[in-house]
Amino acid sequence: MASDLNTVVRVHHTGPPDVLCVETLPVPQPQKGEVLLRQEAIGVNFIDTYFRSGLYPFPALPAIPGNEGAGVVEKVGEGVQHLQPGMRVAYAGVLGAYARYRTIAADRLVVLPDTIPFDIAAAVTLRGLTAHMLLRQVYHVRAGQDILVYAPAGGVGQLICQWARRLGARVIGVTSTEEKAAIAKACGATDVVIGTSDLPARIRDLTDGKMVPVVYDSIGRDTFETSLNCLAPRGLMVSYGNASGPVTGVSIGTLSAHGSLYLTRPSLTTYIADRKELEASAQELFAMVEQGVLKPEIGQRFLLKEAEQAHRALESRRTTGSTILTV
Ligand code: NDP
Repeated sequence: MASDLNTVVRVHHTGPPDVLCVETLPVPQPQKGEVLLRQEAIGVNFIDTYFRSGLYPFPALPAIPGNEGAGVVEKVGEGVQHLQPGMRVAYAGVLGAYARYRTIAADRLVVLPDTIPFDIAAAVTLRGLTAHMLLRQVYHVRAGQDILVYAPAGGVGQLICQWARRLGARVIGVTSTEEKAAIAKACGATDVVIGTSDLPARIRDLTDGKMVPVVYDSIGRDTFETSLNCLAPRGLMVSYGNASGPVTGVSIGTLSAHGSLYLTRPSLTTYIADRKELEASAQELFAMVEQGVLKPEIGQRFLLKEAEQAHRALESRRTTGSTILTV
């Protein structure tokens, strides 16, 4: 280790992007069951903005945000058997990522195949595990089905399009600009609708009146009702994000009124809580990357110390693909 000092980004109180402060702290020591990780690339995910803004609570403040990273095991703590210094690893869903060095529970790390560079790992681990959860676990997407996907040019969205195409499904994307529509199509979306004002009518046209069996809605407040109107009877509404704000005040009667719908609000944390499930999902994901089914696009790269700009870019709806920080 070159020095005992660590560069981190911390928040002391939640709020707008300028609450992200670049600081120097001592390098932490791994405790029992932990490793010290030297991070090479860090994922910036929309969920990081929810923690920073206060929508989701940090366990305590000050806190180091970020939920995804990739790097090299520097030291192992007592009792860690399956990892050794020098191994290449990645993780998703563990707060504390915005740092050069971090400690982390060893059982949250997955070993990275040599073919996957650190920057790609930071672009695809959390977002790809999310796509896997949505298409393979929350709902089993099958060949020939029409599925509706919001933000199809985004980090998770591009991976959903690529994976769903491999499954033989027809993806109808909903986005905000022609440029993003072209990106979504290049990723496998069959049709892309711009804007949501007449979305249910557009879906009716595109599906010959059948509507869709599943909607993947990452937008939340602004689109919840519209999404219900795009579903076929007994369809599944998957509300998995809050890019426009959280969905509140839903009466369950609305599910009956829209045709006996199902509703789920999945969180990746639950789907990778079990170590065996995490490993199996990560293996499937990395195989998809190695086979070229998934081609993670790093649309934006920032330095760790530029985390504030990365958040501004993501929240301003200007980004495409994944956003990462390099160290
Ligand atoms: P994205 O790259 O998808 O960026 C967000 C996109 O949302 C924007 O580019 C924009 O796309 C769209 N959007 C629509 N309305 C707004 C708005 N008011 N403000 C900002 N963006 C808006 O981000 P990620 O890939 O990191 O995450 C995608 C979604 O997946 C997020 O909602 C995130 O919370 C969710 N997620 C959920 C997980 C879970 O476990 N439930 C795990 C991981 C991610 P466009 O211009 O095309 O509309």
